[in-house]
Amino acid sequence: MESKTKLRIVAIASLFSLILTSCSTVPVTGRRQINLMSDTEVVKMTKAAFEQMKAAQKISHDPRMNDWMLNVSERISQQVFWDMPLAEWEFVVFEVPGQINAFAMPGGKVGIFSGLFDLVKTQDELASVIAHEIAHVTARHTHERMSQAGIMKMGSNVTNITTGGLGGMVYGAGMSGKQEAWDRAKEAEADRIGMMYMAQAGYDPNAAIAVMEKMSAMDVGGPSSQPLNSTHPSSQERLDALHSYLHEAMEVYEKAKEMQF
Ligand SMILES: [Zn+2]
Repeated sequence: MESKTKLRIVAIASLFSLILTSCSTVPVTGRRQINLMSDTEVVKMTKAAFEQMKAAQKISHDPRMNDWMLNVSERISQQVFWDMPLAEWEFVVFEVPGQINAFAMPGGKVGIFSGLFDLVKTQDELASVIAHEIAHVTARHTHERMSQAGIMKMGSNVTNITTGGLGGMVYGAGMSGKQEAWDRAKEAEADRIGMMYMAQAGYDPNAAIAVMEKMSAMDVGGPSSQPLNSTHPSSQERLDALHSYLHEAMEVYEKAKEMQF
């Protein structure tokens, strides 16, 4: 009897310490969350996946795309520094026409598909997409999803990138069907954090709204084949939410602009 109780206490205590050590707080929104997957594990997997992807996919050397990417990557990664202090940043434009998408991985690996440049027409607009994707990482959505799934199939999913869409690989590794539909609450969180990041980096947060409007327009005429839309359901709800963050973000943006000059 006594030893049973002891055992139970030990079990509860270790469960507790597991939860305590894996609990973290989302930047900007302050939401508490549980992550059972270690940073080292996650970064190791994502690094390998990114390397595989670079070997398998054609890398774009388009001067304009790469120029925009460099500017945006430098300014955004500076702002994200304290949320991802150990990141080994690497930004790559992959030559995949028609793929209107981008992704960010824990550890600081960011991929942009050349097709995204059909949608984004200014550096501010590009910044809004990149900031949103990085926000999914700093908000540890990737960790959460991996912890929930319990298993990681990221490496084997790399080949699906061009057909299946990045949302699936980055957030829902090895998951299927309904589970791939990305949680709306997490989208809202990434929208909000992303808008703050871009504003801090001196990019006009109105561009996030412009991009969302263009994505909404693409939805007209039935379900789109674009992965960006399938994993990031654009809706009036998201647009309304973005509008509600705009005032706060504009104040940050105005300050950031003053600092730049
Ligand atoms: Zn998203």
